[in-house]
Amino acid sequence: MAQYTPMIQQYLKIKAEYQDAFLFFRLGDFYEMFFEDAVKAAHELEITLTSREGGSTERIPMCGVPYHSAPNYIEQLVEKGYKVAICEQTEDPKQAKGVVRREVVQLITPGTVMEGRSLEDKSNNYISTLSQFEDGSYGYCYNDLSTGELYVTQLTSWEDCVGEVLSTNAKEIVVPSTFAGEKTRLLIDRYQLTISYEDETSIILENNALFQNIRQELLVQTVLRLLHYLKRTQKRSLDHLQPVVFYQMNEFMKIDVHSKRNLELTETIRSKGKKGSLLWLLDETMTSMGGRMLKMWIDRPLISRDKIQNRHDMVGVLMTHFFEREELREKLKEVYDIERLVGRVAFGNVNARDLVQLKRSLQQVPFIQDIVAKLELPYAKELSTNIDPCEELTDLLAVSLKENPPLSVKDGDIIQDGYNEKLDQYRDASRNGKTWIAELEQKERKLTGIKSLKIGYNRVFGYFLEVTKANISMLPEGRYERKQTLSNAERYITPELKEKETLILEAEEKIVQLEYELFQTIREQVKEYIPRLQNLAKLISEIDVLQGFSKVSEERHFKRPILSTEHVLHVKNGRHPVVEKMMNAQEYVANDCFLNQDRQMLLITGPNMSGKSTFMRQIALTAILSQIGCFVPAEEAHLPIFDQVFTRIGAADDLISGQSTFMVEMLEAKNAIANATKQSLILFDEIGRGTSTYDGMALAQAIIEYIYEHIGAKTLFSTHYHELTSLEEELPHLINVHVKAVEQNGKVVFLHKVLEGAADKSYGIHVAELAELPPSLISRARQLLSKFESIEKINTDEVKESEQLSFFGQAPSQSKGKKTFDHENDIITSLKLVNLMEMTPMDAMNKLFELHKKAKKQ
Ligand code: ADP
Repeated sequence: MAQYTPMIQQYLKIKAEYQDAFLFFRLGDFYEMFFEDAVKAAHELEITLTSREGGSTERIPMCGVPYHSAPNYIEQLVEKGYKVAICEQTEDPKQAKGVVRREVVQLITPGTVMEGRSLEDKSNNYISTLSQFEDGSYGYCYNDLSTGELYVTQLTSWEDCVGEVLSTNAKEIVVPSTFAGEKTRLLIDRYQLTISYEDETSIILENNALFQNIRQELLVQTVLRLLHYLKRTQKRSLDHLQPVVFYQMNEFMKIDVHSKRNLELTETIRSKGKKGSLLWLLDETMTSMGGRMLKMWIDRPLISRDKIQNRHDMVGVLMTHFFEREELREKLKEVYDIERLVGRVAFGNVNARDLVQLKRSLQQVPFIQDIVAKLELPYAKELSTNIDPCEELTDLLAVSLKENPPLSVKDGDIIQDGYNEKLDQYRDASRNGKTWIAELEQKERKLTGIKSLKIGYNRVFGYFLEVTKANISMLPEGRYERKQTLSNAERYITPELKEKETLILEAEEKIVQLEYELFQTIREQVKEYIPRLQNLAKLISEIDVLQGFSKVSEERHFKRPILSTEHVLHVKNGRHPVVEKMMNAQEYVANDCFLNQDRQMLLITGPNMSGKSTFMRQIALTAILSQIGCFVPAEEAHLPIFDQVFTRIGAADDLISGQSTFMVEMLEAKNAIANATKQSLILFDEIGRGTSTYDGMALAQAIIEYIYEHIGAKTLFSTHYHELTSLEEELPHLINVHVKAVEQNGKVVFLHKVLEGAADKSYGIHVAELAELPPSLISRARQLLSKFESIEKINTDEVKESEQLSFFGQAPSQSKGKKTFDHENDIITSLKLVNLMEMTPMDAMNKLFELHKKAKKQ
């Protein structure tokens, strides 16, 4: 290091403390990066890589960005998951002896961005933290730095932690250094999360108030880990952090991450975009805060009957009060993002425009409160009573700030006349001075007779008199002092002009300075209101989401569900709300669904593309809509309160976690089976399709039986294995339904109607025809089908003849009154049943192995 210049030595010393971040090193008007940072940044940001002398024999790689355009570059890096340490000059270079002192003033990371485009209006940006306790459980805490929200919970397993991390969509996870290794690798490699380390969990006295609701010491420590990290990296006030909210997973309907994805609650599987998701359908919120709360509600449907009913009540009353709702929407439209404005107030980067937005927002509050108070409903009264319009603050902002202040808080023009006496005096002085100058111009014109004489101002010479060259001869001798010569004019000053100029400039300097001071005082006053403003923001958001529900419910003809106490689900003419909206002109076929004690499971058959999975999703979405407090897409609905929803829908490989379709299918099945209760809803779409026919069919039946016997959850199970429909005979609470399709002129027509009973046949080849596969291929498939069907017929006849057990029958040794197992016949039958066309070479090998083993047993 010794060979480097002092500045590079300083750089290296600071860089050593921020190894995992790009160090933006302030040098005059630029942020420079050196060494590896420079090479990497030049590549990531597509900027030129140069080099400079640094004392060593080799030149040092270097690249830089101008400080005024730095935010854009920082954002690009943070969006890519990097961290950026901002290192500023912390002393005046003119006064510095030797190298100017520099310090990192902030570390910007994916989880701590406070502004810019990576902070979406209607999404939270969470940073979270994990701790492991001695009993093996975990503490999980997450926070949105821009809004100050803090949540903490205790989780029992590592899987639950990963589930919560993914479900909260945390961008960055702060963990103790003991987590380094396998656990963090998983989070980084599989889920592309940014990991940071923090081991400090000691008490921070000034933040004690945040923990008042938290009893458990270990959870307090979890939150403290995050606070220490934020303090260490942000190096500024975190006064806007809100008291920690403790939550338990079982306070909400549990939907695992896979199911959330499958049901496309907040984004679609294909495009990962909002359009086409439930969130897209429901988002009629007028404020960003409402948008964020809606997303949170969709993520965490309720299970408390009272809370759900309160929301339903509000949606109902807002549906019958159309004008009030429209007025409410108008007022909400004027409300800015109070939560994030408050965050900036605490953080110290709020400007006067932000505060004017806060004022405008607050001015709407009394109207909103009034409208809600007039709705004849106890819950509406409760909401409106809880609203605190912070009138004194509104008044303060209204009298102090100008209506359209500039972005910068250091150039004046922020504070209104009449707010501060001193400021008014300075302004008078400045205005008077300017009037005097305007009068002087008139006077001098008269005196000299030069009509074009004018008084101007520039930063270098201050005020001056300007006379064109043609008129110079008309100027009296000795009165004016020449200051500057232009191509066609001369500029002069007089002592009198300079005297006034000093007065004006002094006043202006004082104005700017005083305005900044006054702005800071106002900002400090706003700080006092932070907790009140945050409460207000929550209430406004809730009202906003509920009016949005009411608007959607009205427009899309949703009905209020009746919450069943008997765990009955009866949906009359229900629809899949998103598919229906996407269909535009085509008509969505509404369907009924009835489940109770005696109809616990529906086995759904029907051709591909007939609407099986749409029907299942529709039921899940209906349950979720009801439990987030919205009305539901049906003519009539009685719904239970489900504790959990499990789905296995769609066959997309889990590319993120790198598992095969079949493995994902089995993991999801396991998850449902291990966690579901009688109060849960399970949707299994074509389970077992990912493996060979027999394997798949066997697993499907075993899963059905297991859920039926051991869990008793309400279950919708769709399958293309027609053989399974015979289960209805053995399991009295399993009911066959099918989605109707008919053949017209040799073509299949989907009616999308769900009817009782099993489907009569499969229409796979018809669907292939619809997909316009080549006619020769289709006719070959038909030929093969009739061949397979005839083999199957021989097989079934033989089975009947020898009273063989069905594939799903009990093992021979356990069955009563059945013939002993005939090995030879079995091997031949199995061989005949083999569908070579559908087998992979691996399946074929397995089959051969199995037959060989059986043959050897003889
Ligand atoms: P399956 O699961 O039986 O293969 P899907 O549920 O994927 O079939 O449905 C296929 C398509 O049929 C859907 O994309 C949708 O466009 C249409 N569809 C499904 N259900 C209905 C319905 N009830 N009314 C109108 N169209 C429907």
